[in-house]
Amino acid sequence: MSRSGVNKDYLKKRNRGLVLQHIATERCMSRVELAREMGLTKTGISAIVNKLLEKGYLTEAEKEKETEETAKEQGRSPVKLEIGPDSPKYAGVVMGRGYAEAVLCDLTLKMYKYERVERDWSGAEELMGAVISLLDHMLEGREDVIGIGVSTPGPVDVKKGKIINPGYFHGIKNVSVTEPLRKKYGLPVFLDHDVQSLALLEQLYGSGRDYQDMLVIGVDEGFGSGIITGGRRFESNSGYPPEIGHVSIDHHGNKCSMCGNLGCLETYVGTEVIEKKVEEVLGKKKDYQAICRMDDNPKVRAIMEEMLADLSSAIVSLENIMNFEIILLGLGGVYWPERYLTILENTVNERKFSNRKTRTLVRKVSFLEKAMVLGAVCNAINKTFEGELLS
Ligand SMILES: [Zn+2]
Repeated sequence: MSRSGVNKDYLKKRNRGLVLQHIATERCMSRVELAREMGLTKTGISAIVNKLLEKGYLTEAEKEKETEETAKEQGRSPVKLEIGPDSPKYAGVVMGRGYAEAVLCDLTLKMYKYERVERDWSGAEELMGAVISLLDHMLEGREDVIGIGVSTPGPVDVKKGKIINPGYFHGIKNVSVTEPLRKKYGLPVFLDHDVQSLALLEQLYGSGRDYQDMLVIGVDEGFGSGIITGGRRFESNSGYPPEIGHVSIDHHGNKCSMCGNLGCLETYVGTEVIEKKVEEVLGKKKDYQAICRMDDNPKVRAIMEEMLADLSSAIVSLENIMNFEIILLGLGGVYWPERYLTILENTVNERKFSNRKTRTLVRKVSFLEKAMVLGAVCNAINKTFEGELLS
């Protein structure tokens, strides 16, 4: 095929992917809205939509199957498009610390199956065994699954589909994930870092939908982060994800046991560190969720305000490089009282270098329950939106 032929084919798939994305994420409901959003003619959009209707990927809402022109003339709303019941399905798996979860979804994230196992993994073999057993259940009796998305604690070699050497991960490292799964199931498999997957979920379906530049922070014992820049996931050639937890906030500070740097953020604000600090002042152990509900206790309040000051210091440093429009807090951050978000947002906006007229927002992630596994499945769904998995 000639070069222009290849480009044309790519463009066609990319446009089909975009139409599916706009409908699946409810950004657009009709052909008119699609034409406006994508800057294409109504004829162009109709050709794409008709193809997708033919394949069963899209369906027209039952009510009124009339042409948009007639609808317009008669002052009625245009025909509403929806993702069809015969559209492709996707499996997602999270390989977690002490657990694994799997889901079967369509392009709108409607869940058809879900399963979770909890285990203190003895090693990579046991974890991969659990992943395969979960995927067997998800794919059982299905002919319509076209891709598998996987997420795991970073660092991850996204291109080779391998786990590198995550911290606190049962000693599991250097594990090839996508290749054995692809061979077993004959489906394309996409692996990414867990918080980066969470960022993708929020960008496609959640609080990040209207933004191109976004930082997602996973508040946990280690502070992971995910970055979307210029509307695309940030990716380094090394496969290492962005690690806000290892941004130094004090070069005379704590020596980090994970990386050896001095003053790493997570050695001050990690959830376990906070739980220890609270135990020291209260004389009894409280978990992070309980601590977040104790904002009226002055001792706890002082610890959490110090945590916010430490965190804002790292965020401002990153903000000055990346100029995020929005910062989302996930995992333990979803338990924070709203007051913490206000403090963080005010501090970031007072101290950031650039564009002070445009406020950088600090919010919680939209997805709470099952967010990690939905993030994992997005690694495959997004390939359809990018036009890659479409025939
Ligand atoms: Zn470190």
